[in-house]
Amino acid sequence: MSEHRDKYYYRAKRERFNSRAAYKLLEISRKFGIPREGDHDLEIGSSPGGWTQVITEITGQEVFCVDKNSMKKVPGAIFLRGDITRPEFLDELRETMSSRGVQSFDGILSDAMSQTTGNTSIDHASSYLICQSVMSLSADFLREHGYVVVKHFQGDLTKTFFSEWGKRFTFSKITTVSASRKGSKEIYIIFKDYHPQN
Ligand code: SAM
Repeated sequence: MSEHRDKYYYRAKRERFNSRAAYKLLEISRKFGIPREGDHDLEIGSSPGGWTQVITEITGQEVFCVDKNSMKKVPGAIFLRGDITRPEFLDELRETMSSRGVQSFDGILSDAMSQTTGNTSIDHASSYLICQSVMSLSADFLREHGYVVVKHFQGDLTKTFFSEWGKRFTFSKITTVSASRKGSKEIYIIFKDYHPQN
């Protein structure tokens, strides 16, 4: 069996999810109760759209999605193609939000990661940069008491990242999910109840 075609791959095909990653968010949702019905969320690193399907199904609302790559249309998704580390993307996001009367998000969920190399230091460094961008963006666009879910590849800077950003939230937790590949350094960090003034 190919490394990429495991039981989650075949299950995703059967259950018509765009990717096996959908099961990661379903597990997070079972454990942490987010996203929630009625939430207006921003999803980062959305392509090919497994999480998007889960978010729109649970929230029953439109979801703003962004990815550097293109994505097949998912009903309920407002897709922006862009790179969240670039300032021009933030302008585009602001414009799209304003044209739709959206001021902030209840939740920001990121599964973003560049292609992994298998070198844990390199993967950690690129994940760290993306995670910092996700959190800076959250500081601008998350509403008070909102939540963040962010994928991260562990390494030297994980502890500092977790404790520094955790100061702005009442709840912070690191979790792993069963759909992550065996031996992977992938974790998900959950931050809940945002306090912008902290
Ligand atoms: N959650 C998706 C799903 O359920 O189908 C899978 C996401 S995939 C693991 C990671 C995605 O992050 C890739 O499509 C990649 O293009 C995107 N990505 C990586 N860096 C990014 C960045 N700086 N800005 C936007 N998207 C990025």
